[in-house]
Amino acid sequence: MIHNFNAGPSILPKEVFEQAAEAILNFDNTGLSILEFGHRTSEFTAVMEEARLLAKELMHLDDDHQVLFLHGGASTQFMQVPMNLLDPKDCAAYADTGVWSSKAIKEAKLFGKVDVVCSSKEKNYSFIPKNFAVPNDAKYFHITTNNTIYGSQWKQIPNTSNIMVADMSSDILSRQLDFNSFGLIYAGAQKNMGPAGVCMVVVNENILGKTKRAIPTIMDYRNHISEGSMLNTPPVFAVYVCLLTLRWLKSIGGLAAIEKKNIEKANLLYKEIDDNKLFYSQIDKEDRSNMNVCFRMKDESLEKVFLEYAIKQGISGIKGHRLSGGFRASLYNAMPLSSVQTLTDIMHQFALTYG
Ligand SMILES: *Cc1c(COP(=O)(O)O)cnc(C)c1O
Repeated sequence: MIHNFNAGPSILPKEVFEQAAEAILNFDNTGLSILEFGHRTSEFTAVMEEARLLAKELMHLDDDHQVLFLHGGASTQFMQVPMNLLDPKDCAAYADTGVWSSKAIKEAKLFGKVDVVCSSKEKNYSFIPKNFAVPNDAKYFHITTNNTIYGSQWKQIPNTSNIMVADMSSDILSRQLDFNSFGLIYAGAQKNMGPAGVCMVVVNENILGKTKRAIPTIMDYRNHISEGSMLNTPPVFAVYVCLLTLRWLKSIGGLAAIEKKNIEKANLLYKEIDDNKLFYSQIDKEDRSNMNVCFRMKDESLEKVFLEYAIKQGISGIKGHRLSGGFRASLYNAMPLSSVQTLTDIMHQFALTYG
């Protein structure tokens, strides 16, 4: 058995894979594959509607918040957000907590002024900034709720008067938050809700239409809203697999239930990292991510040895990102506790042999 700890594209529930495979051969008993299915058919329109409604239901969104499934990944949102929300003379506030934040900052600068109100860069992104102020006139305040590469997470969402915008790519649907308090949320699906090729955007309609710039049709959120997220051909298969994952999430008890499991998995692994004399975590304790657990070995020359040792026992995808090194075990929603237990057992055994 392979335990898939990849950061993304990543693990999905086994039953989702089975249902997706079935739909490739025969979608919804139509005798056609989902891959050859027209997006304007009543069957697919129903898929899109159910996916949007289920996301709304699971996140307890109010009627002002619209759910969209768009192309282009989270990286396109780095520019689409400021294009829709920021005029050249205006300023947007950004928190710099990792590689993805800094990429979002770079794109925003093409559309207006950017005030980086806090950063953890000088300490290699090992913590979440705490004491900082956001100017009242900043059009919005952008955070990356979970830093996939360095393994830190905003446990508390900052309370400011500004419109909150969040890149939730790697912790979307992993915990309960007051999602209605955000003006805009975006998340590439391939981390925690589906396959690559689609990005979920949740946007409060009331924040749109305030800028003066001409926005290309396909980049204007309002057009996607008025067309029910079907402005052009949506990524049909990716949306369908997201729907299957959303149904699975609802069936196991929604965000309250998954949050409990995710905390349990993360606690198990961090306890092993803290107790095991060969390993350590680089991230401040209170800011450690429950999704992407990054860790290193005190003796870095052993890292290669441990990696091979783990791979031999079915552990896949724990090599850390090239920028942070060491290891990263991603514990997304579909990862069972038993796989995390297997990993901690392997770390424990390794310490007995090499410690
Ligand atoms: C993976 C990731 C991205 C990039 O997503 P793409 O869909 O590849 O554009 C952006 N932000 C965060 C936090 C990520 O984890």
